[in-house]
Amino acid sequence: MADVLENPGLMDKIVSLCKRRGFVFPSSEIYGGFNGFWDYGPYGSRMKRAVENLWWHEMVETRDNFEWLDSTIIATPTIWKASGHLDQFSDLMTDCKQCKSRYRVDQMEDPTTCPNCGSKDLTEPREFNLMMKTFVGPVFDDEHVAYLRAETCQPIFVDFHSVRVATRQKVPFGIAQIGKAFRNEINPRNFTFRSREFTQMEMEFFCDGEEGMEWFEYWKEQRIRYYREKLGFTDNDMRIYVHEKLAHYAKAAIDIEVKFPFGWGELEGVHHRGTWDLSQHSKFSGEDLQYFDHDNQRKFMPTVIETSVGLDRTILALLSKAYDEETAATKKADLDEDVRVVLHLPPLVAPIQVAVLPQSKKLKENAYALYKDIDRFFRAEYDETGSIGKRYRRQDEIGTPYCITFDFDSVNDNAVTVRNRDTMLQERVNVTQLRDYLEKVIGI
Ligand code: ATP
Repeated sequence: MADVLENPGLMDKIVSLCKRRGFVFPSSEIYGGFNGFWDYGPYGSRMKRAVENLWWHEMVETRDNFEWLDSTIIATPTIWKASGHLDQFSDLMTDCKQCKSRYRVDQMEDPTTCPNCGSKDLTEPREFNLMMKTFVGPVFDDEHVAYLRAETCQPIFVDFHSVRVATRQKVPFGIAQIGKAFRNEINPRNFTFRSREFTQMEMEFFCDGEEGMEWFEYWKEQRIRYYREKLGFTDNDMRIYVHEKLAHYAKAAIDIEVKFPFGWGELEGVHHRGTWDLSQHSKFSGEDLQYFDHDNQRKFMPTVIETSVGLDRTILALLSKAYDEETAATKKADLDEDVRVVLHLPPLVAPIQVAVLPQSKKLKENAYALYKDIDRFFRAEYDETGSIGKRYRRQDEIGTPYCITFDFDSVNDNAVTVRNRDTMLQERVNVTQLRDYLEKVIGI
């Protein structure tokens, strides 16, 4: 696989493949699109669900001290006052008076010149709040203003007490949530990397402040291990950025960065947030959110360690790492074109894990029955149209790790050929052994 950063034009190729093969489309495309919004198509949404499930399993289902939450997207605006978002969640921006382009000042190489038209006629930088505004109720005035959540973690803090009481969890414990977040990004760009509507997977871990740094190190290590072991990232395409400049309440913060086609970018943040969030919500709501430790007869405000990752960025990072164009391999494969485009996606998150391809339409009945059987355990697809070479090629492009060919011999020997996407080696496997075989190679 070529290095992501050494593949010029990679982003365009990924965007085109995503459209062609049904991973991601521009939202409202038939109306000309809507900047910063993206729809996930049949394969993209399967992959998204697979990554969500993997994260959820890793963070919540395998741990006893973890709880679930599914909160609303819109809630009282006071939450965002307490969290500081209404006052501070803003970027400095400037407008070009000539071509009317708008820029984030911190992202301009030269804040005195318009990167688009070269004009020096720019407005004074102004604060621009990123909260997405709406109205709740029939009257559209200041009293009815509300906001779409800018992050999924604030409702976790707000519901901390209810969750703890309902579940009788003792500190330390965590609450996780996956859901949509909205930011009025001034300059959405780099495909889904910076969108205005996106999905976050966040977990807040509540602990005793004295153990805060230990837990921070623990979660940092857990998350890096997850990217290595579950998603296949290596030291070559993942690195840690340690924040030197911290928010006034934070004790430590790192970003897990990966290689995107435009360069290194933040995928996940791991933050030691101290007692800031619960203290703020206690102050603004008047509810005491402290925890009473019965064992030690001690009351304290729990410290929070947060892991926060964007699902859309995870998908983009996986696609960037997986995309490959192979030319030398063509001779081995039964393809009629020069370049084999293949997504080397980890089998656990590939949208389709197993494709069942009959050698001939005459074998439909048996092959389809096999597919229905396999489909109960794996994300599977059945395809009988076109030459076998074309069907392999299509599966390569959507990253299917295993293709099963049901041929005329299969009827007699009850065995099928399993083709490996990456090595292109083919193995004969008895149908009675197939499920075990696939579970092992997919890593379930
Ligand atoms: P950035 O510096 O890139 O704007 P951030 O530091 O503001 O990101 P956080 O507020 O820490 O991001 O959000 C946690 C995660 O949510 C990020 O690591 C990223 O994966 C994702 N995320 C944040 N903003 C966006 C966005 N506009 N589009 C897609 N994903 C996003």
